[in-house]
Amino acid sequence: MIEFSKEELKLELNYPFRISNFSRNYTPVVLVKLSYETHIGYGEASMPPYLGETFESANEFFTKVNLKNFEPSQYLSIIEYIDGLAPGNNAAKAAIDIALHDLIGKINGIPCYELLGSDPSKMPFTSFTIGIDHPEIIAKKMEDAKPFHFVKVKLGSQQDKEIIETIRSISDKPIYVDANRGWGNKEYALSMIEWLATKNVSIIEQPLEINQIEDMCWLKEKSPLPLFADESCRRLYDIDNISQAFHGINIKLMKSTGIVEAQKMIAKARSLNLKIMIGCMSETSCGIYAAAALAPQVDYCDLDSPWMVKNNPFQTPKLVDGKLILENKPGLGLIQK
Ligand code: MG
Repeated sequence: MIEFSKEELKLELNYPFRISNFSRNYTPVVLVKLSYETHIGYGEASMPPYLGETFESANEFFTKVNLKNFEPSQYLSIIEYIDGLAPGNNAAKAAIDIALHDLIGKINGIPCYELLGSDPSKMPFTSFTIGIDHPEIIAKKMEDAKPFHFVKVKLGSQQDKEIIETIRSISDKPIYVDANRGWGNKEYALSMIEWLATKNVSIIEQPLEINQIEDMCWLKEKSPLPLFADESCRRLYDIDNISQAFHGINIKLMKSTGIVEAQKMIAKARSLNLKIMIGCMSETSCGIYAAAALAPQVDYCDLDSPWMVKNNPFQTPKLVDGKLILENKPGLGLIQK
């Protein structure tokens, strides 16, 4: 018999989070616990407002969840049951999926990365995200980025070139750019990408709006840099629609409904020769360790949120030589603070 409990957390950000179209100081998170005999599995739903989930929507979803008739070994049936309870609610669904993986790992005495067939020696470098800000704050954030070998820079503002020039005056670290749909039209996007290609930028994420698929196909043909879908690719069924328009996808557990579907997305993306990044929302170490357990199976890793929040209830993962360290402990390897 699996028991379910949950707790709300306003996960506070070190800096107000600014991307091309809004700003906020905290992210609503629901921490989930699944208990079975003496074991507890931890999960998390992180709900940035643009995805439409809230404390209210998650709480309403969780009132529908009843796992008392399931055993943890039936986890695939549980995932199917959870997904069928209501449409949407991707982060709430991910919380259960993550907690189940932590629980199963603990019951069997196996780290999650091993359960998922990941080889820790293949962990990619993780990038550190720099949000849109004034030059002096960007310079301060570049200090925070020192332990990381890559930075991911949010663009889509009026100051895009100034932001990049500020960073380049401080560091020659390779940059991934995330425009968060902010460049408006394909011609402007192409001119920005051509300029960025001269600035040691290696990836462009989500240059245009989700519905600009034809413009994205045009851009893909001409872009000197690979283009990654984030907002355009939430779940497995999105991949077919966008595979002609992007070179790669950014998988996040909070969009994919968790690890089980993320694994299917990895397989599908590989079959279509798409590159894969694994990313995160503002998450505690719980969501980050869950994503990190899959990270050795992908090409790029952007799992930096524990370094950007104030009240993470779990210890920050170890970072060595710019890479996250997977803990050789049963389950996710979380340590409560
Ligand atoms: Mg993004």
